[in-house]
Amino acid sequence: MTLTLVHLYPSLLNLYGDRGNIIALRQRCAWRGIDLRVVEVGLRENVPRTEIDLIFMGGDQDREQGVVVADLRQRHIGTISRLVEEGVPFLAVCGSFQLLQNYYRTADGSELRGLGIFDAHTIHPGHHVPRCVGNIVVRLKDTTIVGFENHGGRTYLSAGVEPLGEVESGFGNNGKDGTEGARVRNAFGTYIHGSLLPKNPEFADHLLFLAMQRTAGQVQLATIDDRLEQRAHDAAVGQARSQSRPR
Ligand code: GLN
Repeated sequence: MTLTLVHLYPSLLNLYGDRGNIIALRQRCAWRGIDLRVVEVGLRENVPRTEIDLIFMGGDQDREQGVVVADLRQRHIGTISRLVEEGVPFLAVCGSFQLLQNYYRTADGSELRGLGIFDAHTIHPGHHVPRCVGNIVVRLKDTTIVGFENHGGRTYLSAGVEPLGEVESGFGNNGKDGTEGARVRNAFGTYIHGSLLPKNPEFADHLLFLAMQRTAGQVQLATIDDRLEQRAHDAAVGQARSQSRPR
């Protein structure tokens, strides 16, 4: 079986090793005899007209976001809106999570109009305000995810928008309302770098399950020996709980 993943702006949006998410997904597919074909789509390039099973977009600083957002809106808003509507799993980390919202007001006050996939907005309070930096633990419905966050922007979900999870320790969307990230259909926005997926194998497999379920109907992902990943996950959760702000 082959799955196709579109990686948007890989060279411009690749902060804190977010590319590690692609490596984790590719390896978890390979262990199961599934070929993950990664199609990189950079600035001024079009999304291929082939079947797309997954989309990934990483994070970056305000400057790079400003470079990407015009191209993202002009070139991809229709395609991305359609793919999200069709239930294609989409993982958007930090800066790209912000660009998929209604708008992101950057540290210098300029307003980057986003794609409106997530009915939310983000405001960076300025460089004089401490960033949301540190280890983070987030409770999802049936699992916990852990990682590292580093963002100045504070995200506010509109009423009724489902967060990805509840912050157990760390800042999350805005350090105040206890939410982290957002979900609409199978699009997941999150602030968690790390990169996210290597230490959160359950979440990685959830994305793969959704992709395979959408294209092949009911599927059963073969079990993988995740003892190493689980040990890394549990150690990171313990470290985060001991170091950062409990909510
Ligand atoms: N520039 C954005 C902010 O500071 C996103 C940062 C990131 O992607 N880590 O909030």
